[in-house]
Amino acid sequence: MLDPALQKTLDAVLARNPGEPEFHQAAREVFDSLAVVQERHPEYNDLGILARLCEPERQIIFRVPWVDDRGQVQVNRGFRVEYNSALGPYKGGLRFHRSVNLSIVKFLGFEQIFKNSLTGLPIGGGKGGSDFDPHGKSDGEVMRFCQSFMSELYRHIGEYRDVPAGDIGVGAREIGYLFGQYKRLSNQYEAGVLTGKGLDWGGSLVRTEATGYGAAIFAEEMLKVRDTSFDGRRAVVSGSGNVAIYAIQKIQQLGGIAITASDSSGYVVDEDGIDLELLKQIKEVERGRIAEYAERRGGRARFVSEGSVWDVPADVALPCATQNELHARDAKKLVENGVIAVSEGANMPSTPEAVEIFQAAGVAFGPGKAANAGGVATSALEMQQNAARDAWSFEYTEGRLTEIMRGIHQNALETADEFGRPGNYVIGANVAGFRKVADAMIAFGVI
Ligand code: NDP
Repeated sequence: MLDPALQKTLDAVLARNPGEPEFHQAAREVFDSLAVVQERHPEYNDLGILARLCEPERQIIFRVPWVDDRGQVQVNRGFRVEYNSALGPYKGGLRFHRSVNLSIVKFLGFEQIFKNSLTGLPIGGGKGGSDFDPHGKSDGEVMRFCQSFMSELYRHIGEYRDVPAGDIGVGAREIGYLFGQYKRLSNQYEAGVLTGKGLDWGGSLVRTEATGYGAAIFAEEMLKVRDTSFDGRRAVVSGSGNVAIYAIQKIQQLGGIAITASDSSGYVVDEDGIDLELLKQIKEVERGRIAEYAERRGGRARFVSEGSVWDVPADVALPCATQNELHARDAKKLVENGVIAVSEGANMPSTPEAVEIFQAAGVAFGPGKAANAGGVATSALEMQQNAARDAWSFEYTEGRLTEIMRGIHQNALETADEFGRPGNYVIGANVAGFRKVADAMIAFGVI
């Protein structure tokens, strides 16, 4: 049961945003965590901080017309939700996936506020995207779509205003087309307007690897608290995109054995550990399907099209595909099979019921807004390099990322302790992220 004042604010938020289940889920989770703050600091809610935090500063929805390879006109919908700029310019990725709608963009933007605050870097929260599906599209189609998308978005963004990046369906190719069109329309080389850029044109080393690396580092930190490590441990990873690939790489570097990868068609199990070069060739270069991995592994891996990747026994689990991909039954199965830590590479991949099961079973659970913050943190490092017209080495940048991830872990752990919920990273991350944003909002007055 929530405190009545908090419940009243939450009810108003839910009523004002009907038909947005993902946003409701994200908002409920934050309100649940903030119950411990409400007990000690009712002034945040009294000052309307929560009501204001839940209402995006600006929401932009626009038409994206483009012409496909057959000469047919296609129309998609573009979104940019500029959620909160208390700590810096809006910052958050663009997602291109057929499922994208306002609810999904808002849940992602809302989470982004707290995540960005946790990094300790000066970035606000935002998110955007389109219901455009890049699967099966030619490079020319993707380029024309990106150019049309940016023809509207460019007027809303800028290095001091709003700095988009990649997410599902938006990688180096899409960022290139988007940046090219922005440069053309604005007639200036404003490198800091987008992150995730190519290394030859303002990108940062380690940005590609950062989210996956960060999620694995976060898992390692949780394991350390339990006096253990990845060494020799089996890990199940879902997804086979940017986050999953580099989570697998870092797990391997830390001595773990990542044995699975998946996409929306199924998953592969490779008991010897995923062959990363093969996975990268199929997914990053050929943009193929995950079944091809098993076909080309010469009998050492199997492809499973039914069931769930979470049925595979392992010590550590890293969901790295998409929201709500790990349900209560999956959590039960993982617990039965002896999982000790779960680190979310994706945003909100575990359902609330699954999170409860992990926590009740004493599994170390790192929520996405803490565990996957390495991507946006390194985006902020890319902005720093752009502003200074500088380019840092891989080693230096990775060192900064590692330091930031350890800092986030420590902050979440200590904040959970401070509020009497030891080991609860969900509460720790939400409260630590919230406090900084809330205090800045109070300083600025009612705006
Ligand atoms: P990619 O597009 O590179 O990869 C996404 C992967 O997840 C693909 O393997 C895709 O398979 C799978 N997937 C996507 N949607 C579904 C679905 N509905 N059902 C099953 N599988 C699905 O995206 P990223 O790796 O960049 O992002 C993955 C997650 O990490 C997202 O939640 C994103 O928000 C989060 N994240 C990403 C960051 C980044 O820096 N990239 C930063 C922080 C969080 P298929 O190809 O079959 O669709």
